[in-house]
Amino acid sequence: MKTLESIRYEVAPVQGGYTDQILELDLTSLAISTIDVEPGYRRKYVGGRGYAIKMIWDRTTKETRYDSPENILVMASGPLGNEPRFPGTGKFVVGTISPLTDTFIDSNIGGHFAPLLKMCGFDALAVKGISKKELVLIVDGDEGTITIAEAPLYGEEIDSGGLSYGEALIRDFTGGEFTENVAAVTTGNGALNARFGIINSLFYDRRRKRIRSKQAGRGGTGTVMRFKGLRAVLVRSSLPRVQANHPVDKKSVQEAGAKLKKVISQQDPKQLNLGAWGTPVLVEYMNKFHLLPVNNYQYGQHPDAPEVFADVFLNRYFERKVPDGCYMGCNLACAKGAENVVLTRGPRAGEKVGIDGPEYETSGAVTCQGIFDPPYIMEYNWYCDEYGLDTISMGVTAGFLMECFQRGYLTVQDTGYELSWGNIDSADRLLHETARGVGIGKICGQGVHRAKQWVAERWALRTKKSIEETMDELNKFAMEVKGLEFSMYICKESLAQQGGYGFSLKGPQHDEAWLIFIDQVHNEIPTFEMKAQALKWFPLIRTWFNAVGLCKLPWIDVRHPEAAKTDNPSQNQPTLEYYAKYYGATIGEKKTVQDILDDSERLHLLQKMINLRQGKGTRAFDQIPVRAMGPAYFNEYQSRSDYYDEWLKEHLAKDENYPTTPEERHQVILKLRKDAYQKLCDSVYQAKGYNADAVPLRETLEKFDLLDEKADSLLREYGL
Ligand code: SF4
Repeated sequence: MKTLESIRYEVAPVQGGYTDQILELDLTSLAISTIDVEPGYRRKYVGGRGYAIKMIWDRTTKETRYDSPENILVMASGPLGNEPRFPGTGKFVVGTISPLTDTFIDSNIGGHFAPLLKMCGFDALAVKGISKKELVLIVDGDEGTITIAEAPLYGEEIDSGGLSYGEALIRDFTGGEFTENVAAVTTGNGALNARFGIINSLFYDRRRKRIRSKQAGRGGTGTVMRFKGLRAVLVRSSLPRVQANHPVDKKSVQEAGAKLKKVISQQDPKQLNLGAWGTPVLVEYMNKFHLLPVNNYQYGQHPDAPEVFADVFLNRYFERKVPDGCYMGCNLACAKGAENVVLTRGPRAGEKVGIDGPEYETSGAVTCQGIFDPPYIMEYNWYCDEYGLDTISMGVTAGFLMECFQRGYLTVQDTGYELSWGNIDSADRLLHETARGVGIGKICGQGVHRAKQWVAERWALRTKKSIEETMDELNKFAMEVKGLEFSMYICKESLAQQGGYGFSLKGPQHDEAWLIFIDQVHNEIPTFEMKAQALKWFPLIRTWFNAVGLCKLPWIDVRHPEAAKTDNPSQNQPTLEYYAKYYGATIGEKKTVQDILDDSERLHLLQKMINLRQGKGTRAFDQIPVRAMGPAYFNEYQSRSDYYDEWLKEHLAKDENYPTTPEERHQVILKLRKDAYQKLCDSVYQAKGYNADAVPLRETLEKFDLLDEKADSLLREYGL
């Protein structure tokens, strides 16, 4: 690798979970610098997502877009990251201004990268500027050097890939010997051609004896990375992990971790059994409860769905005996993978590869295209990772284009081939074209929000209808909010999840409020008030996990046996007590669950202010497509007419007559659903301290010490 810039540095020690150093890289000038983090800053913004939000708020403007030089790509763990005595501590967040939403996006990701970065002396990496040449950053804690090098070339096929390139780079760097002490982040060439590029986190798994990967999938973080000219970041540190986070009170950390590990080992096998099945286990639940996206979320169930249930993947692909944690110490170990899968399609057909996944979301992204074929799901998974494409946004945009084809908005003249449901050849062609930025793939790579505009313009030209009129129709089934594609849960029948998607600050990704399970599978928040309350509480607690460097699954997916005795079992408070103890013991301050919620509310509000600044923060931007609220078209109503008729009988006002025709009933259902969503907006905004237009009130910002001059003038722009 040709070195362009290199500095020597003193590795800052970790104390109480922090190094209090941020590594900053300016790719325009090739300047490497470090920022000292003041105690007040970390107390207020915590770490991880909090640091990313604060940097974007401070250092970008309303004119900043994903490709602006001042846009910052922040990768940050948090004070609780890198603690093998506690489960789920390998997570970090990538935050930036998104190519899809034009506002702040963050996506969390596992693996060894952030723990190693912290051991190299940095709580976060912040990258700004744009390089004309493709570069690699190497942070070497063992040597005490930080180096910017020209991205090496390894041959066309490898160079186009996120996984292949990363593996070649690690091999190159280590001289061929893989080790857990070296990790990398990369993305592939697809991220250059699509707005939903991902970042792969590559690490060595000594049990599977190969390089594995996890992904920061949502919102185009990989597109930003690639656009900046940053091809990869390598980190190395050989310090022992088990003592690396230096908690203030080791014994309490050990105790809290041991208690949580015990709950996981005793309860997970009786509950979701993620340790055995991985997240593909969700496909069966989702299909059973009509929540699995089929044909662009038209239907939630399909007779062929058992073809893609977890047992099929377990028997055919997964190695049963291997515990698959994505970081040391996680005994939930849900990160399943397959070895020696021979690719049958695309430019790498015939090659044997290891595939990490599929996660539930990837399977859902394929059923969203009407496909129920495990080998195709595996290949789709691998190619998306290799190209650097988000499996979710890819699947949802493909599904949108397929539905445009179904409803006649697109024809073969527009697309070049039939985009029909369940057609693996077409779906596969669309995937590869999207990665290469050619044909209809070029439109697909723009995501649903922009593809919708393209379809509307063509349709308006052809039919002489107005673009606005066509957009109204497309908006019924274009599954995006704020520019981000929905993740893979049908929320038509769950008012709570509708809000979970609509109010989510980054757009409809479930990591802010995954309420579908507790609302529709467990029916634990049956009343309107409980749903509204959950829509304030869950986003806050979930924000905290992303700020401290933790995986949420050990909390949300494994219910503590004592939770049933609490007022609100779905919050899993007994497990949260372990987290509060772990937090306090690490940083050396007593912390309660309420402290955690307060810290998070500040971050949540600041993110909301970024959305307002970027013009994406008001009530209008929380509105969801008709399909997310109910049966958008009559065929959807017909597919479950008995269920819908019953629902209508229960929800129709006493003085209203039951409509006589199915068509009328369909329309009344849609009206009731739309009214309920607006009522939910009012209620949740009030609970969050916003006005009716979803703008935070002055006193709300004041309470969290956020009402500075900049915030004040922004509020004035919104008439407050
Ligand atoms: S629960 Fe799964 S995703 Fe979370 S840290 Fe453990 S292995 Fe990784």
